[in-house]
Amino acid sequence: MIYIFCAPSGSGKSTMVKHLLTTFPNTFELSVSCTTRAPRGEEVNGREYYFITPDEFRQRISQNAFIEYEQVYEGLYYGTLQSEITRIEGNGHHVIFDVDVKGGINLERLFGDKATSIFICPPSIECLRERLIHRGDTSPEMIEKRVAKAAQEMEDRIHFDHIIVNDDLQQAFAQLDAIVAATAQIV
Ligand code: ADP
Ligand code: 5GP
Repeated sequence: MIYIFCAPSGSGKSTMVKHLLTTFPNTFELSVSCTTRAPRGEEVNGREYYFITPDEFRQRISQNAFIEYEQVYEGLYYGTLQSEITRIEGNGHHVIFDVDVKGGINLERLFGDKATSIFICPPSIECLRERLIHRGDTSPEMIEKRVAKAAQEMEDRIHFDHIIVNDDLQQAFAQLDAIVAATAQIV
């Protein structure tokens, strides 16, 4: 199975994905994307992302290494590697994608019925801004870019199979567990 997670930045998508990975460690694996942005906070190359230069990114495009890629923010590229899917499926695990909304819609088209798509919604745009400020690893300028993009992303939530409003975290986890239980047959 393929799980596609999309959300405006700051909604709690990484928090939800981490919950799945730690609750079911031998079941799911995150598809590690390439990005041209710099590592943030505790991020480790090869765990959250493969942090590469724009030249390396262009090289991978020309090698057809990506099944999808986007310039998610001005000058910042993110791409999903075919090799990650091969690796994770080879391990017999379900694949988790953490991508932007456009990337999510592209992956839904690509994987069809094999994919379950989940949109993580913040309680409000203001709450999203507060969470990004509180997280403390994103510049004020970058926070505003992310918040500005959020309104359009929220409109696109209708394209997803499930919408989880991440207000109370435990309730959001419970909703996610229920979706996974119904689709992955693991619990
Ligand atoms: P994203 O991956 O969507 O950018 P994160 O998972 O990094 O978002 O969450 C953004 C910030 O909000 C983090 O500091 C996280 O701990 C916090 N957070 C996530 N979910 C909740 C919630 N339900 N209530 C309060 N804070 C939350
Ligand atoms: P961040 O910089 O906060 O880690 O991610 C910014 C946005 O890029 C998030 O919405 C994240 O899901 C998205 N993203 C991460 N990897 C990919 C990818 O491979 N493809 C696409 N299209 N978006 C990605």
